Amino acid sequence: MKRMIPVTPRQKEFQEEPCPSTYIRSKKVDTNQHIFLTAEDSFKRLISVVEWHARCCKEKLKPTKMLKKGHVCKTSLKCNDKETPHVFSWSSSPYLPTKDYLVNSRVNHGITCSGILPAVYKRFAQGSGIGVISDENRTSFFNVHSQHIQEEYKYSTDIALLQEIASYEELDSKIDIMSDARHGWRKNAKDTSVVCTGEKHIKLLVVNMLRKQWTLYLKDMRDLGQRRSSTIYMKMM
Ligand SMILES: [Zn+2]
Repeated sequence: MKRMIPVTPRQKEFQEEPCPSTYIRSKKVDTNQHIFLTAEDSFKRLISVVEWHARCCKEKLKPTKMLKKGHVCKTSLKCNDKETPHVFSWSSSPYLPTKDYLVNSRVNHGITCSGILPAVYKRFAQGSGIGVISDENRTSFFNVHSQHIQEEYKYSTDIALLQEIASYEELDSKIDIMSDARHGWRKNAKDTSVVCTGEKHIKLLVVNMLRKQWTLYLKDMRDLGQRRSSTIYMKMM
């Protein structure tokens, strides 16, 4: 038996409007639209705000002017209610206790750890249109964190020296050491020294791709990994 469920005017209004597609095909003229980085929490909060507004107001929310703060987008959402329009301020990044944006701080962290040159970062950021962190902001970040970087550098150097010394069966007068464990063979990393490791052993934190010729070294890695269970080592040829 069929039951007739009454449809409220609001539900009727919803039914008349088809759901917009989540697949968007960008036109040529739209390829220069705003592109920015966002964080999970900010994205979820945006959904929550829009949901709250939809429950208590029939007008649509629209973003006003979008401002770039580094890689972060800052904007306001305003509805068309003529008497008392709702206005929500939204940033694509949460704030840290220091009032800095989390997103920009994470990018600054990546810049510092990768050894990328400032000029290369700026060309990449400007070329891709994702916003760019100013020289002042990057310098300020580096100055704040340089003490921690120096401590990490000293710690990794001490550990690397001890590991290297322990790896020599008969220690002569000298040992070999690398001053950059990230990618010391790269030209743009030669002047950085955030982390350090021995010449005979290299710590592997993450391996994404295994090449066929590496399989010869797997046995060495396993043997060494068993000897020092907390860390995996790769023996250099
Ligand atoms: Zn409203």
